Amino acid sequence: MHTVNLDGRSITVGKIVCIGRNYAEHIKELGNKTPDKAVIFMKPASAIVAPGGTVAIPDYSNDCHHEIELAVLIGKAAKGVCAAEALDHVSGYAVALDLTLRDVQNTQKEKGLPWEIAKGFDTSCPLSAFVPANQVRNPQNLQLKLTVNGKIRQNGNTGDMMRTIAELVAEVSSYFTLEEGDILLTGTPSGVARITSGDRLEASIEGVGKLVVSVA
Ligand code: MG
Repeated sequence: MHTVNLDGRSITVGKIVCIGRNYAEHIKELGNKTPDKAVIFMKPASAIVAPGGTVAIPDYSNDCHHEIELAVLIGKAAKGVCAAEALDHVSGYAVALDLTLRDVQNTQKEKGLPWEIAKGFDTSCPLSAFVPANQVRNPQNLQLKLTVNGKIRQNGNTGDMMRTIAELVAEVSSYFTLEEGDILLTGTPSGVARITSGDRLEASIEGVGKLVVSVA
């Protein structure tokens, strides 16, 4: 069981719902098509790594990529909510990495198979501490920055999301009931690339927090 803290309260993490292809430049760099509906997949809560932790790349991959993303914590159950009310169901924000075994994902895509073995492996979801939502003035204007061994790899802004956080919560809640403790990862900007053993990743989102992990 994994828990996160918010305002001094311990909350059990439920499902981690992730959004793919939500930034135009990232869609281009991977040669994907712009989706007409949100691209949705999940990671298990067992994928979470705390700040300062270690990422273990599974031995069935030779190409693990970093993807920095804004994480959204659900504070109140949401089922079929409209975008105008969606942010009332959000209680916090954090920095997350959606670590992805790109070679495995590409094989799964070619075969028309689900992505979970490429996306949900143990340690695939490093996650910073959460800050309360009311302390983040405009979640749609936050700079996301990721360095690997001190070199900048990703530098984007949540203002470039194709679907806003509110629209994502609404759309996801049309498929699944979102419950307190569920987490939504909102997609990555461009600049994704390979990480290897010994790398040190530093991810930060302005006004939200910072996350450092190393690769075993
Ligand atoms: Mg992602």
